[in-house]
Amino acid sequence: MTSYFCDRLRPTFEHRRRGCRLKPWGKEPRFPVPPSRPNNCRSCNPIPFPPSLAQWRNDGGDYWDQLVTPEVGALVWSEFPIQVYVEPPGKQPSETAWTQAVLAAVQEWQPYLPLVVVDQSESADIAIWRRSPPLRLAPRPSPSVAPVIERVRSAETRYALYLQQGSGSASVLIHRCVIYLSPKQTAFYVRAAARHELGHALGIWGHSPQETDTMYFAQVRNPPTISQRDVNTLKRVYEQPTRLGWPLRNGN
Ligand SMILES: [Zn+2]
Repeated sequence: MTSYFCDRLRPTFEHRRRGCRLKPWGKEPRFPVPPSRPNNCRSCNPIPFPPSLAQWRNDGGDYWDQLVTPEVGALVWSEFPIQVYVEPPGKQPSETAWTQAVLAAVQEWQPYLPLVVVDQSESADIAIWRRSPPLRLAPRPSPSVAPVIERVRSAETRYALYLQQGSGSASVLIHRCVIYLSPKQTAFYVRAAARHELGHALGIWGHSPQETDTMYFAQVRNPPTISQRDVNTLKRVYEQPTRLGWPLRNGN
């Protein structure tokens, strides 16, 4: 299993222009190349293209060229509905507000990709937790420099790759996502952060340079809803080649 993460800076508005970073977490494994038919080959593609995205038509542009393409290809889901687990609330009213805000963000993506909320985190495709992202050590310029913990972040999305036994002897490469959302924000910003992080988990592995897109690289005072450019970008992601969902040769 290998993990990657994407995170945004905390919503300190004076820092919003500094942007948010997208880094590998660990070293991406090299998988053998499966049958290399692109994901946008409708006649030969075994990965279903979501009907809701297939029907989407808009000429408003996108920011697909800003995205990072992992070595495994586009981070697209191939089985629908995508199963989303949201950590249930405890006894505190703020916890109930957090969960409701996250569920509202899940609903916002529903028109574009089929999602279903499940109550088992273990089997979910995307698990969303009410906690601050784990602390990390900052990259060191040299081994002689003392390690420093990076600044605390309010939200983070990671994905991990797995090999799943397919129907035959070959294994299938799949991924799972984990989202951490801080419990220390108001419900308004929790919903905005959940909307943004879900965009990553659904396949938009990168950020928009425009403040009017929900995938803008920093939090803003008035977070936008999902824009046409966000959906255009999501659709382009699902048109890209991927190794996810394909049987691997030699089962490794
Ligand atoms: Zn982000």
